[in-house]
Amino acid sequence: MTRALERLNTDQQQAVTTAAAQALVLAGAGSGKTRVLVHRIAWCLEQGLAAPTGILAVTFTNKAAAEMRGRIEALLNRPLGGMWVGTFHGIAHRLLRAHWREARLSEQFQIIDADDQQKMLRRVIRGLDLDEEQWQAKEAQWFISARKDEGLRPDKLHDGDDPGMKTMIHIYRSYQEACERASLVDFGELLLRAYELWRDTPGLLRHYRERFFHVLVDEFQDTNALQYSWLRLLVGESANFFAVGDDDQSIYSWRGAQVENMQRFRRDYPQHALIRLEQNYRSTGTILDAANALISNNTARLGKKLWTNGQRGEAIKLYAAYNDIDEARYCVDRIRLWHDDGDRFAESAILYRTSAQSRVMEDALRQAEMPYRVHGGFKFYERAEVKDALAYLRLMHNRQDDPAFERIINTPTRGIGNRTVDEIRNTARLERLSLWEAAVRLIAARELGARAAGMLGSFLRLIDLAAEQLQGLALDSMLDTVIEHSGLVEHYRKEKGDRGLDRIDNLAELVSAARDFVPDENTEELPLVAAFLSHAALEAGEGQGSEFDDCVQLMTLHAAKGLEFTNVLIVGVEEGLFPHSRSISDPNQLEEERRLCYVGVTRARQRLVMSFAESRRLHGSDYYPQPSRFLREFPSELIEEIRVGGAPTVQAVRETEANGLRLGQRVLHRTFGEGIVLHLEGRGAHTRVQVNFPGGVKWLVAAYAALEAM
Ligand code: ATP
Ligand code: MG
Repeated sequence: MTRALERLNTDQQQAVTTAAAQALVLAGAGSGKTRVLVHRIAWCLEQGLAAPTGILAVTFTNKAAAEMRGRIEALLNRPLGGMWVGTFHGIAHRLLRAHWREARLSEQFQIIDADDQQKMLRRVIRGLDLDEEQWQAKEAQWFISARKDEGLRPDKLHDGDDPGMKTMIHIYRSYQEACERASLVDFGELLLRAYELWRDTPGLLRHYRERFFHVLVDEFQDTNALQYSWLRLLVGESANFFAVGDDDQSIYSWRGAQVENMQRFRRDYPQHALIRLEQNYRSTGTILDAANALISNNTARLGKKLWTNGQRGEAIKLYAAYNDIDEARYCVDRIRLWHDDGDRFAESAILYRTSAQSRVMEDALRQAEMPYRVHGGFKFYERAEVKDALAYLRLMHNRQDDPAFERIINTPTRGIGNRTVDEIRNTARLERLSLWEAAVRLIAARELGARAAGMLGSFLRLIDLAAEQLQGLALDSMLDTVIEHSGLVEHYRKEKGDRGLDRIDNLAELVSAARDFVPDENTEELPLVAAFLSHAALEAGEGQGSEFDDCVQLMTLHAAKGLEFTNVLIVGVEEGLFPHSRSISDPNQLEEERRLCYVGVTRARQRLVMSFAESRRLHGSDYYPQPSRFLREFPSELIEEIRVGGAPTVQAVRETEANGLRLGQRVLHRTFGEGIVLHLEGRGAHTRVQVNFPGGVKWLVAAYAALEAM
């Protein structure tokens, strides 16, 4: 048998060998979708249906893309050879680098992240003389990103005579102009430009259509409208389009993902083959039963059931922790035991809902001297000090880079006051200059006070001088020089406690990152500095431990999509955290949280641990959360509860519910009106209930409150 069909069941083989040009594989977690996609590539090559250069494969996260590349190379037993395998953003970036002229970009455009985007927006909003309270940068950012994801430029938007909308569109337009002036591209812009590039350059589109006759997409359920249009443009009517996905794992609707793309695909390609896979090869029977039970609580589903031939496996451990530190300690102990039994550290993953939860875990792991690696979320290249240093490098590289200018003009503090900075901004706005040019102009025109002019002048000289010294240096020496000139090290040394030392370590780490840096095929034509800056912005941080070290894996549940681990620990399974408080009162969002939990549970091959804490300190405040409602949706016979201390067990919560109230329930109160139950506490006659009424949140004693269920 050919390699491409090795170790596949009949349904999987059917998917891999399908003669249909367009195929949709719709199947649950761990049923082999990614495996089928990889084998499909091998099949096309073996059968001579495609050359490596004719294949484009797309997925969502950097880690998933790296894993896919690895799986393809292992199966083919040779390098990718001209195949394009990457994330939507990565591939869009590659196209724009190759065709910057046609995309109407400057050759050395740089990518800005969400943080810089927000700063830029704040400046734009101020520049338009709008009330910053009323027009928040964050909201404008949401608005703009959402419009870009829909493929909409400002001139395609209609205000419908709504003054608010009119202003928003105005902000969008001004922001876009500012980005163009500074040669900056945000994440949404990468995709939109890549789409417009093909749409508006027929010759180029023809070239790529002839080249990529085989387009394959993993995690198809999480594509947004623009990504789908982009794929559709490339595939046209006749190319091969192989999409795999699972509606139960759609977890990015808050970022514009549209499960409807599955239906759209089916309508747009009426000749397509639809293939379903039902056998799960990843998890034990226990874990799979738990996942099936959980997801059956969702209503909006295409519906499918997974089964396995595998072993029942161990019960799912549920740890009731005393607090978040105890929770972290338990996780570390567990992982140590598994390690003693022969599992590598890298086979264990700790998953959490919000990236802020990683800090306590990291502390515990460091204390235990256990190697670990944080993926996504808490990113090395997003740390303030790293961004500061990179902003110096950016500004030395491109004086028009306004976000970089703004970031460092007074970091470290050099006595340039807000008034001076405001004046620079105003001049820049009125005369349509970059901040740098405006600063030069102000000094030349002697429009600043002597002191301010002196300080500003020495800042500009510092940048010019250091930029000159960078000429001809190796990349790591460049960063060394930049950091030295910036004065950042002395600046952070003044910061109290370990924090400042941490930051200085990170700066040193940045120099090593520069030393190890090798441009990839997208950026090898660029000057090394530009390539490195793109890398820093895009890759956003694989900071600690190298890819190949044996490290415990830490990541958010979102980042874990598509991955698998022998042992999975899902921490902080609490009301308000998971499901997240933002989603508790909206049934659709609650279903998305449940899908996220389903994603988390189905990452585990052999062992699953979940935990919640009786008290938790997060963002500097103490919380006393309740165990998550999701925990009660798992059949109790699959769960082994472990508790020390007095945390409420899931069993106790079940009893509370026997009182007739449950979390998320709508209730009616004579005086307060209609509300939603947020928390339950205590048992029997002592049950206290927290309800969100129109007039505010209230704690009531259930026995006296006479709440009517609705
Ligand atoms: P997810 O929805 O989580 O992305 P998936 O459907 O993409 O999951 P894969 O990651 O492709 O699933 O497969 C899950 C695991 O099952 C992998 O370890 C894979 O190698 C294994 N597997 C899949 N099919 C088979 C098979 N026919 N025989 C043996 N192992 C298989
Ligand atoms: Mg997969």
